[in-house]
Amino acid sequence: MSDSQIDETHAPDRRSWIGSANDPLTDFPIQNLPFGVFRRRGSGASGRIGVAIGDRILDLAGLADRLAGEADAALLAAPSLAPLMGREPRLWRALRKALVRALEAGSPQQGAVEPHLVAMSEADMLLPVRPGGFVDFFASLQHATNAGRLFRPTAPLLPNYKYVPIGYNGRASTIGIDGAEIRRPNGQRLLPGGSEPAFGPSLRLDYEMELGIFLGGASATGEPVPIGGAWRHVFGFCLLNDWSARDIQAWEYQPLGPFLGKSFATTISPWIVTAEALAPFRTAACARSDGDPAPLPYLADPRDQRAGGVDIAVSAWLRTAAMTAAGMPALRLGTASSAGLYWTPAQMVAHQTSNGCNLEAGDLYGTGTISGDGATALGSLLEITRGGSAPFALPDGTSRTFLEDGDELSMTARCDRPGFVPIGFGACRGTVLPAPAG
Ligand code: MN
Repeated sequence: MSDSQIDETHAPDRRSWIGSANDPLTDFPIQNLPFGVFRRRGSGASGRIGVAIGDRILDLAGLADRLAGEADAALLAAPSLAPLMGREPRLWRALRKALVRALEAGSPQQGAVEPHLVAMSEADMLLPVRPGGFVDFFASLQHATNAGRLFRPTAPLLPNYKYVPIGYNGRASTIGIDGAEIRRPNGQRLLPGGSEPAFGPSLRLDYEMELGIFLGGASATGEPVPIGGAWRHVFGFCLLNDWSARDIQAWEYQPLGPFLGKSFATTISPWIVTAEALAPFRTAACARSDGDPAPLPYLADPRDQRAGGVDIAVSAWLRTAAMTAAGMPALRLGTASSAGLYWTPAQMVAHQTSNGCNLEAGDLYGTGTISGDGATALGSLLEITRGGSAPFALPDGTSRTFLEDGDELSMTARCDRPGFVPIGFGACRGTVLPAPAG
């Protein structure tokens, strides 16, 4: 079997000897066990691989022999997840089982494992891997339709959409993690009513609510990954905010696509929820409407159609500086599920490698903005305010069309299915700072 499957690591009655992992509200029960890279606060040391469990991090470097065996111990002692991502699902599954045995209630290993726990409150998270490549897709039909309608009211969807998993090569060097400070970008944009561009701070700064997909197991140049084996290259998922300067984007995107309107920053959550942890939340690929074309053969696989989707409910939240100062909670802007995406992760992998382009372990995909049906399921301000024409009110008495300086945009996600323990993704926050002086 090439894919992750439901097994004893997903058993809903399993508890951990770490009490906080058994809290029904935690994102990190023993059924999750996401990977990240952390550093003890103030230590100045290089990063270490950790696994989130309740409000603790299990430091894997000191347990590498116990968890992975001598031959593979170096994978867990690395300062990055890239070597582990470079391996295969069989090893990822074995490691997950070893972690469950070490952390489950009643484990005889408790005494040996306990000294390797670090409180999350005493750790700083680091980028889990430096992606060599970053592709942002456009997989939500609702988002593509909503965004397209603003530019082409009578024909919102371009004719290629239902044939091609549309994407573009993004910028990997500006990917950062939760807690990011995002400088409002300067750039060329048309001011309202103007016909000539002016250079200055973006006035239409937006977020995009997406999932990130970290790829594992490299593929060779010239050898496309067949869709039937594509899930083998999915290491795990994180939250991803594709910050977007809509005015810069609108002026620059034709004819070659997004460039400076996107490349200034991307923020991800630091914990990577593995494909194995997501096995109970796999779902059918999104059903195509009557009249839609069937996927071309290289994108069509019966198993992928049956179980190639994944149901992750993603939410975006806004808190202004005034709301923070007044102790107000963040306002939820939208919630939508990745189960509605028109293209599956396997279709993305098969398409991206179909021309012979290789994959490298640690490459990152963005799904594209995730929007669903209805006003509470939109994944960007572009859609919520219909291109800035419909401001909405905030609890601090102000209103928004696009993001203002001091605004904090955060994302969360949960997977919840009857009969299984819900899992979450942790935090993905970023705060907007003023543009640098021009
Ligand atoms: Mn995007």
